[in-house]
Amino acid sequence: TGVQGGPLTAAESRALRRARVGPERRPSEGSLVVVTGAGSGIGRATALAFAERGAEVVAADLDLATAQRTAELAGLLGPAGHPYQVDVSDIDAMEDFAKSVLHGHGVPDVVVNNAGIGMAGPFLDHSADDWRRVLDVNLWGVVHGSRLFAAQMVERGQGGHIVNTSSAAAFTPSRTLPAYATSKAAVLMLSECLRAELRGKGIGVSAICPGIVDTGITRASRFVGVDGDQEARSRERASRAYARRGFGPEGVAKQIVAAVRDDRALVPVTPEARLGYLASRLSPAA
Ligand code: NAD
Repeated sequence: TGVQGGPLTAAESRALRRARVGPERRPSEGSLVVVTGAGSGIGRATALAFAERGAEVVAADLDLATAQRTAELAGLLGPAGHPYQVDVSDIDAMEDFAKSVLHGHGVPDVVVNNAGIGMAGPFLDHSADDWRRVLDVNLWGVVHGSRLFAAQMVERGQGGHIVNTSSAAAFTPSRTLPAYATSKAAVLMLSECLRAELRGKGIGVSAICPGIVDTGITRASRFVGVDGDQEARSRERASRAYARRGFGPEGVAKQIVAAVRDDRALVPVTPEARLGYLASRLSPAA
């Protein structure tokens, strides 16, 4: 199988090299994993991490070409990759998507509701449409993805896991990300409610809270913010430092795989996020 869309990036080559491993690295053999926002960044890394461990992957994204590329890479690393184009904020499209997955590939063992968009700028500059867009994708996308697969997982009776991508922004009051942070705080609470309801039915739910990762989202919003260039530079520095410490897209993907394996409720990806979470519970919005 050839990989389309240009030569492999360094990260993709590394992933392919790492994939040439023995059966001990394939604990997810036989499982079906659905990832939304799988065309880029954390979603692609997550799709490939599961593929590397032997899972069949459904790679869904708004952008079909990038989903196809992820699916192709997943097919090289694991048993199969299936690309889908879907807008997670569109309930009809998500219903069609879920039907196609269930009929075409079966009930997923893992659903990673990862698709998301950024929205940087102060509250006073956010329009009603800004709020609607970010909540439609970041919150409703997760609601649809969970709602459309959870009942089938429960009915099948063989367990399963839902992973929702929240963010350290969920518990870090911000002057620059009000709508985004609100959407991610909602995803965190949704995940906690789902976990409480579904754990008795054999389904695990995890919320993943990465710090700043250099991906499409951060690149798109980096130069917008109340502090202008200064803030842009500090975000860039932070994402580079996190990447060096192993908290880039592949590091986040590893923690997502581990969250499923160990059934972890909340995964603050970086030590800073862990402290931020604890501090927010002790002294909210200090
Ligand atoms: P990214 O932009 O590289 O990837 C997001 C993917 O989602 C893209 O491929 C995009 O096409 C897709 N997408 C966007 N809207 C969609 C829609 N309506 N339907 C389907 N797909 C859609 O960014 P990323 O950083 O990999 O983001 C993945 C998730 O991680 C997001 O939920 C984001 O909020 C979260 N996150 C990112 C960071 C960070 O710093 N990058 C930090 C914390 C959390």
